[in-house]
Amino acid sequence: MTYDKNNIFAKILRNEIPCNIVDQNANALAFNDISPRAPIHILIIPKKEYQNFNEFISLATKDEIIDFYELINKIIKKNKLYESGYRIIANNGSNANQEVKHLHYHLLAGKNLGLMIN
Ligand code: 5GP
Repeated sequence: MTYDKNNIFAKILRNEIPCNIVDQNANALAFNDISPRAPIHILIIPKKEYQNFNEFISLATKDEIIDFYELINKIIKKNKLYESGYRIIANNGSNANQEVKHLHYHLLAGKNLGLMIN
């Protein structure tokens, strides 16, 4: 399946729709989820067009991969999330019910997050 340039996160990256930016670097953007499932619910996305995790890891440059994970780590450190704990989730494809077909990691924290799968 080819990348859909009209997915919501592509529009956010083109500044066609607003988002609440948390932080960014050359290759990755972090913004608040519009429908938060926890007190902290941040989405981290690569700035280039990758639909899912395996596409990203297979095709991205080392700089893109490093920037992506460093941005997540920067947010974790800035908010001291390592103290209370946090969860990182990436839904990929139909069995995971991925809604937006641009790779995104969910960073969830700020309360006990319960079981991983209900
Ligand atoms: P998925 O189910 O694909 O893993 O997660 C997609 C996430 O994107 C959901 O948590 C949903 O709330 C979030 N989302 C959908 N549309 C928008 C939007 O327009 N802005 C922001 N900030 N988040 C969105």
